[in-house]
Amino acid sequence: MRIQSKLPGVGVTIFTVMTRLANDHGAINLSQGFPDFDPDGELYELVEKHMRMGRNQYAPMQGVMALREKISEKTAELYGRSYDPAGEITVTSGATEALFAAITSVVGRGDQVIIIEPAYDSYAPAVELSGGIPVYCAMRYPGYSIDWDLVRDSITPKTKLIIINSPHNPTGSVLSPADIAALRDITSGTDILILSDEVYEHIIFDSVVHQSMARDPELAARSFVVSSFGKTYHTTGWKIGYCLAPAPLSAEFQKVHQYLTFASNTPVQHAYAEFMEKKGVCRSLPEFYRGKRDLFISLVQNSRFRCVPSRGTYFQMLDYSGITDEPDVEFARRMTEEHGVAAIPPSVFYHDGVDTRVLRFCFAKKEETLERAAERLCAI
Ligand code: GLN
Repeated sequence: MRIQSKLPGVGVTIFTVMTRLANDHGAINLSQGFPDFDPDGELYELVEKHMRMGRNQYAPMQGVMALREKISEKTAELYGRSYDPAGEITVTSGATEALFAAITSVVGRGDQVIIIEPAYDSYAPAVELSGGIPVYCAMRYPGYSIDWDLVRDSITPKTKLIIINSPHNPTGSVLSPADIAALRDITSGTDILILSDEVYEHIIFDSVVHQSMARDPELAARSFVVSSFGKTYHTTGWKIGYCLAPAPLSAEFQKVHQYLTFASNTPVQHAYAEFMEKKGVCRSLPEFYRGKRDLFISLVQNSRFRCVPSRGTYFQMLDYSGITDEPDVEFARRMTEEHGVAAIPPSVFYHDGVDTRVLRFCFAKKEETLERAAERLCAI
């Protein structure tokens, strides 16, 4: 039997490849982005409590109402915009599902979707499965800022969607108010929609303010805003995220979501809602992760790696051009096998494999993990 692949260019994701390689060689895994420390113990108790209270059957399709209310309050408090829990908020099975549902709900055959590269690896396959055409606009090392002239020149009557990600994985760059103004200007008077991946909204450093699309009335009116509880509460394995969008967009989004998963994990949604009720908006995360970023940078200061400090996310790019001229995929493999530290080669986040001899390291790790990894990196 011959199978005609719908995604002929897609293989196993780099996160799976590098984590497997790290495990096979007993390497310290700074590749795939996840914390190696535990979430707040109270969350475990809350999940158990809600399971014992019998909240073990399907949640409402849009998500548990108490959680939607908390998301609404949080967004109003932080970004000054009120999303209606009844029709403008959908809880999803991770941000990954929200991204897929948003893209699928609006992109049709022949529609063009602008993707800023390097780009998180799930965007383009979702566009292609919908029959859409990715149009790439590259950000370049070391500044990694968006070239808005290039974005403007890439727009055609077929442009349906622009995908934005800030704080940005893998580069650690963040949008500025000037970026928001440029995006507003470019899309003003058009029907172009925006998918804003804001999963690292609470992981942003040096007093920089997160520029959520929700802050800007004009942009919010054309945006799907996606976030994830996994990043905020150190629970990437619990896979709960959400999407905010004006009612007409949310209605289309929910048509897809209801057949993709229908609903997401019930007791975990109740637990997050109660946790948010008790703890309020998560304000300690920037300081927590800034400490880890600064520790990691200071530990590798005397190595042959060079860096520009990350401004958001829990990733730090390190330039290894002072060590070798090997392509990043090869060096990432050799570093894992021979030096016992795994990282992500960012060339895989460019459709044409742009390789600037940098690697992405995840610093969402215990101090001792970062110390052991840095010791090995300093020996290269
Ligand atoms: N978002 C995580 C990262 O960038 C990984 C997610 C995944 O494994 N698919 O490392």
